[in-house]
Amino acid sequence: MVKTLQFHRIASKVQFCGTWNRPEQFERFLNFIRTNEIKTVLPGDDDGIIVTFDDGEKSIYDYAFPLLKKFGIKAVVFLIVDYVGKRNVWDITLTGKHVQHLTWDEVLEMKDYGFQIGSHTMKHRNLTKLNKEELAYELFESKRIIEEKIGKCYCVSYPFNRVNAHVIQAASRAGYTFGFGGDGSSNLQLKKEALYITDNALSFGIKIFEKPKYAYNYLRCQQTVINYFTIATMLNRRR
Ligand SMILES: [Zn+2]
Repeated sequence: MVKTLQFHRIASKVQFCGTWNRPEQFERFLNFIRTNEIKTVLPGDDDGIIVTFDDGEKSIYDYAFPLLKKFGIKAVVFLIVDYVGKRNVWDITLTGKHVQHLTWDEVLEMKDYGFQIGSHTMKHRNLTKLNKEELAYELFESKRIIEEKIGKCYCVSYPFNRVNAHVIQAASRAGYTFGFGGDGSSNLQLKKEALYITDNALSFGIKIFEKPKYAYNYLRCQQTVINYFTIATMLNRRR
């Protein structure tokens, strides 16, 4: 069985969002993977854990990449293509600061190490709310640019985990093999386990092994609630 872990930001200072992890915490998760002899794989393998990062923020390069190299783990990084090399203007900015995104050079370095680079669309819009042309643009254009700059791109991660039949169909037409976000019913709707600042070795283990079942179901509910809060970022979207 394949399990996908979804990370966002790795930061050493307190962030005003739930979707971040401290570097020490992230390292403890990697230690857990090593101690339990869990295999880490990339999309296409049929047994193991896939480590993924959404949003393509610079903190992935600064904090996560050195730790992943230390443990010899390869990950998938999903880029918001229009924001590569720029400051984040789409997320909520409680601190008044915009987050820096990865540059193409940093992306290339991680790709050369063996990371997979996937699309998190052009502008991080809720794909289920777009018309046909907008949807095609988000999926096709981001893939085209990644392939021009980096190389083959066959994975997409749907912003806000929002996905429906139209989105799946468009992702398939755009030529993606794997789509991350959804109920796990097909390769274009792969289920993810999101990791938050509130997670520890215990909840990490429950999310990976899906047991005990009641605890796992509780954590899935929590994840749904946190995902709903990310709607706030949609309201802050400028276009
Ligand atoms: Zn995202």
